[in-house]
Amino acid sequence: MIYPRCSFPTLLVVVTAVASAAPGPPSSPVRHFQTRTMGTIGTLSLVGADSAEVMAAARAAFAEFERVDSRLSNWSADNELARIQAELQGGRARLSSLAAAVMAHALRVARASGGAFDPTVEPLVRLWGFLEGEPAVPDSAAIAVARASCGYTNLQLDLPRGLLFARRPGVRLDLGGVAKGYAVDLAVETLRLHGVEAALVDLSGNMRGLGRPPGRSSWTVGIRDPDSEADWFARLRLEGLAVATSGNYEQFVDAGGRRFGHVIDPRTGWPAEGLDAVTVLAPTAVEADAWATALLVLGPEEARRVASQREDLHAILVQSATQGRRVVWVEESLRGRFDPVRGSGDRFPLRWF
Ligand code: ADP
Ligand code: MG
Repeated sequence: MIYPRCSFPTLLVVVTAVASAAPGPPSSPVRHFQTRTMGTIGTLSLVGADSAEVMAAARAAFAEFERVDSRLSNWSADNELARIQAELQGGRARLSSLAAAVMAHALRVARASGGAFDPTVEPLVRLWGFLEGEPAVPDSAAIAVARASCGYTNLQLDLPRGLLFARRPGVRLDLGGVAKGYAVDLAVETLRLHGVEAALVDLSGNMRGLGRPPGRSSWTVGIRDPDSEADWFARLRLEGLAVATSGNYEQFVDAGGRRFGHVIDPRTGWPAEGLDAVTVLAPTAVEADAWATALLVLGPEEARRVASQREDLHAILVQSATQGRRVVWVEESLRGRFDPVRGSGDRFPLRWF
């Protein structure tokens, strides 16, 4: 889940901070801190003079990343998630308040997306080799077996008591589609509590700003060009929202002329198809993270329908190439904050929806 297969990261950050290059007054420079966490790189851009307070705030924010990772990574045999998986086989698991909060977010998006987002997708992710071994296309009988163990409706969360019930054995959790976003929200809150007034938190494309960068009205991020690891094709002003990108760029297997990414459609048991990447703006990073995964699963038409219907989400969809050309769909609600880089429209048409 949390750890991408590639040993290290994601110089392929899908969304890149660009605003921090803005020259600020000397009293409020932007300082960058980086850490390796959750199988990727976390970056903090903090506005403030070099001081013990800024250092302490950065350390505390990084500690939040570690807290989420150490408890909920499914790459550990003896963390909280491993214990929850074992207890669930008996029908009932105890959850810490952190695990219960992440679970509540995951189940809310699972319901709202009609199961496109599904925190019980673990058996399928494992079968496709995205958790252990080498990714490969499984046979259809094995897909049917794994799919039968999935389904968020098998779960019931009692949030006040911190209990999670499974209606059947074989249910296993994968929180890789939400945990990074949740960690970003925790980090932002921690920075605020430490008195930081302006910052941008980035955990491999899951980003949320606090305040605004010196001399600018909003944190601005670049959306990665689908054809290039280094460039961005558009700038996006966050204006108080969080952003996340989900795509098939980073973890995938190519087979039979098709690319299969690590986001699986629990309804078919096959990797999501039709979109190469989805960027979502939402009020919190956990919502942006989960919805980016959900819209990727829903595919181009359904994703446009759901995003237009929901006022809390704003989406940019990179539709997979047909006849060699991609189309980038941008939601109307982003007019005024989405600026394509000059010339990008020559390579892939931009369409508003
Ligand atoms: P990343 O972790 O690369 O930033 P995502 O937020 O899209 O990207 O999360 C992908 C991870 O989510 C997968 O590696 C897997 O652990 C998990 N996952 C895969 N398919 C689904 C799904 N349909 N619903 C929820 N989580 C999923
Ligand atoms: Mg996600």
